[in-house]
Amino acid sequence: MAKKKRRRGGIRPLALIVALAVLGGVFGLGWYCGVRSTRYHGKILLVNAEHRLPADYVPEGLVNLYQMRHSFRLAKSDIYLTRETYEAAEKMFHAAEEQGMNGFYITSGYRSYERQKEVYAQSKPGEAQEPGASEHQTGLSFDVTAESSSGNFEETEQYGWLMAHAHEYGFIQRYPANKSDITGISYEPWHYRYVGVEAATRIRESGLTLEEFIEKNR
Ligand SMILES: [Zn+2]
Repeated sequence: MAKKKRRRGGIRPLALIVALAVLGGVFGLGWYCGVRSTRYHGKILLVNAEHRLPADYVPEGLVNLYQMRHSFRLAKSDIYLTRETYEAAEKMFHAAEEQGMNGFYITSGYRSYERQKEVYAQSKPGEAQEPGASEHQTGLSFDVTAESSSGNFEETEQYGWLMAHAHEYGFIQRYPANKSDITGISYEPWHYRYVGVEAATRIRESGLTLEEFIEKNR
C-alpha cells in the first residue's frame, strides 16, 4: 500500500505541471488574442490614448506620395502613407478633380514614433498626443487643407466635397465636432482616416465615431 501511495504521489506533480502548461498555453493565447483584438478590432486598427502603438510599429508598404502619381498638392516631399491608403486617396482626389474640385493640399501623413516623441517634447502639456497615441503612426491618416484656405478648412468648398464623398473612397472624418469627449481629440476638419468603403459608409450613415463604431460591432 505504502509503495502504491508513493507512486501516485510521483505522478501528481507531473500531472500538475502538464495542467499548468496547458493552462499557461490557453491563457497565453487568450492574452495574445486580447492584445491583438484591442488594437485591431477585426480589420480596423484603432489608435487613441487608450490604444497606443508600440515604439517599433511601422506600417508595411509605406509609399512616398511625392514619388507617386498624385492629383493633389503636397506641402513637402516626404509625406508617406500605406499603399492602400495612397491608392484610395489618389482615386478620391482624381475623382474630385474630374468633378471640377481642385486645390487639395496634403500637409501630413505617416508620423513615426520618434517624430511623435520630438513633437511631444517640444509642446506644452495637453497640446500634443503622447508618443504612440497618434493615428498618424498607422500610415492610414492624412491631414488636408485647401490651397485657398486662410485657416478655416471647414469653410471651404473642398471641405464640403470631402464631407459628401470621402466615404465613397473609404475615408472618414476621424475627429468630428462635438465628439471630443469620445475621441479625446477636439474637432479636426482636416484629418481623414482610411477604413475601407464599407466601414466608412456605415460610419457616415450612423454618425458614430470610430471608437463607437468599433464598440458597437465588437
Ligand atoms: Zn492629423
